[in-house]
Amino acid sequence: MRIHHLNCGTLCPLARRLINGDGGLFERGHMVCHCLLIEGPQGLILVDTGLGMQDITHGLPRLFEALTAPQLTPAGTALAQVQALGFSADDVRDIIVTHLDLDHAGGLADFPKARVHLHGRELRAAQAGQGMDAHRYLKRQWAHGPAWQAYDATDGEPWFGLHAVRALTGLPPEILLVPLPGHSKGHTGVAVHGDDGWVLHGGDAWFSHLDLVTPRRTPVGLKLFQWLAGDHTRQRRASLAQVQALAARAGDDVQLICAHDPADLARCTGH
Ligand SMILES: [Zn+2]
Repeated sequence: MRIHHLNCGTLCPLARRLINGDGGLFERGHMVCHCLLIEGPQGLILVDTGLGMQDITHGLPRLFEALTAPQLTPAGTALAQVQALGFSADDVRDIIVTHLDLDHAGGLADFPKARVHLHGRELRAAQAGQGMDAHRYLKRQWAHGPAWQAYDATDGEPWFGLHAVRALTGLPPEILLVPLPGHSKGHTGVAVHGDDGWVLHGGDAWFSHLDLVTPRRTPVGLKLFQWLAGDHTRQRRASLAQVQALAARAGDDVQLICAHDPADLARCTGH
């Protein structure tokens, strides 16, 4: 299966040096919303959707805008990039979301006919929207009522030492849901075996390739952000430790990418 790597949202938080580890304190940082577009045997499959057309029309919550200064352009949406590749919105039959945070679910409404696969705990937390969860999810992004396919991680088998859910409904067996909770209640990674081997899209289970090197060299601003945006610190650290162990064990057999690291995206697209 061919995998395209798309940036579906550019975020420019303050204090570049604390976010990207280079540049000035008063410069704007650079983060991306790295999504995968997979050419599957039955149609296109998106992994995460970044920000979408509705977010351009309606805007985003003020706190999110203030913290991340998102650059919103129609050409930057998954929809426009799918069309630029010669496909239509209806060709996207399935979407897998690592979680439903607003910078991952913004494009859902641009593909209203797609089934949306995710962990059951994530769907329940987003629909309940209680406590801190009321601030992280934006219900209008999925008010069109997608056909949800929710999974609870009781069935599955090991994948490179991690627990994985296999047999996602109607999807090829080379696509797995890999529970990595902690950032949000039902956060997962998505593993895909494409033309060039395995890719694990880890969503927000880590924020920088520097999270995965030993010793960890994550810029302090990103570490703070991970703590602030996390749902459960112990689970989040356990998930990160699992991925760090995977990185050490699997080496080049699994390409590890997270949602917001521009260096990951540049490595995958060759730019
Ligand atoms: Zn995110």
